[in-house]
Amino acid sequence: MDCIFCKIANKEIDSDIIYEDDKIIAFNDLNPQAPTHFLVIPKKHIASANYIDSSNVDIIAHIMMVIPKLAKELKIDNSGYRIVNNCGKDGGQSVDHIHYHVLAGRQLQWPPG
Ligand code: 5GP
Repeated sequence: MDCIFCKIANKEIDSDIIYEDDKIIAFNDLNPQAPTHFLVIPKKHIASANYIDSSNVDIIAHIMMVIPKLAKELKIDNSGYRIVNNCGKDGGQSVDHIHYHVLAGRQLQWPPG
C-alpha cells in the first residue's frame, strides 16, 4: 500500500519522531500550524475515523492516553493544547491514515475554518 504514514511508521521515510512504542508513533508535522504541532498515528493502517471499530479501538484509546503524557513532557499541559482529527474530504483529511494532530504554543481560535 502506498501510504506515506505507513512509510513513516516503518522508517522508510524520515520524520522527526518524538515518541514511539509497539502500537503508535508521534512525529512533528512537516508544515506546523502552531509552535508545537505533532501527529500521533497507529502503526497499523487505519484509513480514517470511519474505520474505528471494536477490533482497533484499543489503539485509539492508547493514543488518547499517550497524548496527555506527551503534553506533560513537552510542558504544554498547563497552557493547553488542541487534539484534532480530520476525517474525509470535507473534514480536511489529506492523508488517508488516521492521525491526531496536537497543536499548542499559541492561542488557538474557535471555530476552526
Ligand atoms: P490532514 O490534512 O490529513 O489532517 O493532515 C495531514 C498532515 O500531515 C498535514 O498537517 C501535513 O503537514 C502532514 N504531513 C504530510 N506529509 C508529511 C510527511 O511526509 N511528514 C510529516 N512529518 N508530516 C507530513
